[in-house]
Amino acid sequence: MDAIRRAILIAGLAASAGGVRRAAADGGSGKDVTPAVDGTVRFDEEARTAAAQDFGHVVQRMPAGVLHSASDRDIATIIRWAADSARKIAPRGQGHSVFGRSQVQDGIVIDMAPFSAIHEVGNDRVSVGGGATWRAVLAATLPRGLTPPVLTDYLDLSVGGTLVVGGIGGTTSRHGMQSDNVLEMDVVTGQGETITCSPASNPELFHAVRAGLGQVGVITRATLRLVAAPQKVRRYMLTYPDLKTLLADQRRLVAEERFDAVQGAIVPTPSGWTFRLDAARYFAGDHPPDDKMLLAGLSDDRAAAKPATLPYADYLDRLVALEKLLRSNGQWSHPHPWLMLFVGDSHVQSVVAGELDRLTPADLGTFGQIVLSIFRRAAVTSPLLRLPDDGLVYAFNLVRLPATDSAAEADRLMTANRAIYERVLAAGGTLYPVSAFPMSAEDWRRHFGPAWPLLREAKQRFDPDHVLTPGYEAF
Ligand SMILES: Cc1cc2nc3c(=O)[nH]c(=O)nc-3n(C[C@H](O)[C@H](O)[C@H](O)COP(=O)(O)OP(=O)(O)OC[C@H]3O[C@@H](n4cnc5c(N)ncnc54)[C@H](O)[C@@H]3O)c2cc1C
Repeated sequence: MDAIRRAILIAGLAASAGGVRRAAADGGSGKDVTPAVDGTVRFDEEARTAAAQDFGHVVQRMPAGVLHSASDRDIATIIRWAADSARKIAPRGQGHSVFGRSQVQDGIVIDMAPFSAIHEVGNDRVSVGGGATWRAVLAATLPRGLTPPVLTDYLDLSVGGTLVVGGIGGTTSRHGMQSDNVLEMDVVTGQGETITCSPASNPELFHAVRAGLGQVGVITRATLRLVAAPQKVRRYMLTYPDLKTLLADQRRLVAEERFDAVQGAIVPTPSGWTFRLDAARYFAGDHPPDDKMLLAGLSDDRAAAKPATLPYADYLDRLVALEKLLRSNGQWSHPHPWLMLFVGDSHVQSVVAGELDRLTPADLGTFGQIVLSIFRRAAVTSPLLRLPDDGLVYAFNLVRLPATDSAAEADRLMTANRAIYERVLAAGGTLYPVSAFPMSAEDWRRHFGPAWPLLREAKQRFDPDHVLTPGYEAF
C-alpha cells in the first residue's frame, strides 16, 4: 500500500510550500503567485482544504489555490501559467471521486461550480455549463417534458465529472453512457485554447474528452441530447433465490426490452446474500402497465414483489433517502473504497460467485451492496470506455460503505480491490475508472489497451506539458 500512503498527504505538510506562503502573506489575493484573472483564485485554508478532499476520503492532496470563475479565459490563463511554472491543474466538479482524481498537490484546482449555467433548452438538446449537476439539468428540462436519456443513480454529480468517466445509469442498455449522449462540447485544452468539438468538428478532441479522464481538456460547456420524459414510473423490486436466476432474468429482460431500466443488486443480510432486481417501466397518463404481463415468466419470488407507481422525478432521485441516512449516521464522511468493474456475460457467473465466496458483509459495510446490472455492449460507443468483448456486459460494483472511519480498514479494502481487479481482468473484465486503489501509468496503458494510442496522441497534441488532471497518474 505504499502508493496509497504516498498519496495521503496531510494538509499541514503541503501548506509549507513556498507559493502558498507567499499567497497567504498577500492577504489571500494570490496576485504574486498566479496571473490576474477576472474571477478569483482563493489561497485561504478553507478553500484549499475543501479542494483537498473528495467523497472517497482516502486521498488528500493540498492544492496551492482554487480558481473560482465562470470564464473560459480565466481557465486558459491559469493553464498557461501552470505550464510555464511547472504546476498542475485539476478541474473539480462535485468532488465525488473516490481516489483523489480531482485533486492536485501544490497546483490549482479549478472549481467548476461557477460553470453551472443552463444556457439553452431546445426540443431535443440542452446546452449547459460543464459544472452543472445532473439535478440542475433535469430541473431545466423536465418542465419542458424532456429528459437526458441516461442519468446516473445519483443526481448531484457534475456533467463534466461524469462525461470524463462515462456515466452509467439504468437506461444504459438502450442509450449507452452519458458520454454517448453528448452532442458538442466547449473544451479548454491543456494549451489554454478553447475549442468547440463534436463528432463532425475536431473529432480527435471530442473522442479523447469523453471517458478520457480529464487528460486533455476542461469541459466548460456541453450540449446534451434530450428525449421525451415519461410522467410516471411503474417500479418492481424483485427478489431472486440465487445468482443464476438473477442473471438469467436480466438476460431475458435486456433481450425483450420489457422495461426501460433494469438494475441488479446483491445485498448482504444476516441470513446470507439477497439477490434483487429493480426494474422500471415508464408510462404517461393514468394507465400503468399490466403487472402480470410485464412479470410473466420471470423467476422472482412473486409474493415478495412490490410494484409501486411514482413520478419520474421521484424515481430518478431514489438515492436521496440513503444519502440522508448516511449523512445522519456519519457514514457519508467515512472512507469509501469503492470498486467498479465491468464483467462479460461469459464469465459473470463464475467471477461473481467466486467473489461472493470471498466477501463478507463487513467488506461492504452497513448499507453497502453490490451492483450487478446488465447492458448491451453495442449501446456504448465512446471509444475510451473500456468494456469486455462480450455482447452483454455487467456493471459489477462493490459499493463499500464502511461502518468505521478507520484508515487501516480503508487500506485493507483497497488492497482487496486490487486483487479483485486482477481476477476480473484475468477473466476478460475491465475497470470503470471511478474506483479506489492506486493505478500506475503502466496499469492505465494496460487498461486502455488498443485505445491507448488515441489518448496518448491526444495528450501529446492538446496537453503536451502534462498540466491537466494529474490525480489519475496516467501520464
Ligand atoms: C454517491 C455516488 C453515486 C454515484 N453513482 C454513479 C452512477 O450511477 N453512475 C456512474 O457512472 N457513476 C456514479 N458515480 C461515480 C461518478 O460518476 C464519478 O465519480 C464522477 O467522476 C463524479 O463526478 P463529480 O463531478 O462529482 O466528481 P469530481 O471528483 O469533481 O470529478 C471527477 C473527475 O472529473 C474531472 N472533471 C470534473 N469536472 C470536469 C470538467 N468540467 N472537465 C474535465 N474534467 C472534469 C475531475 O478532474 C476528476 O478527474 C457515483 C459516485 C457517487 C459518490
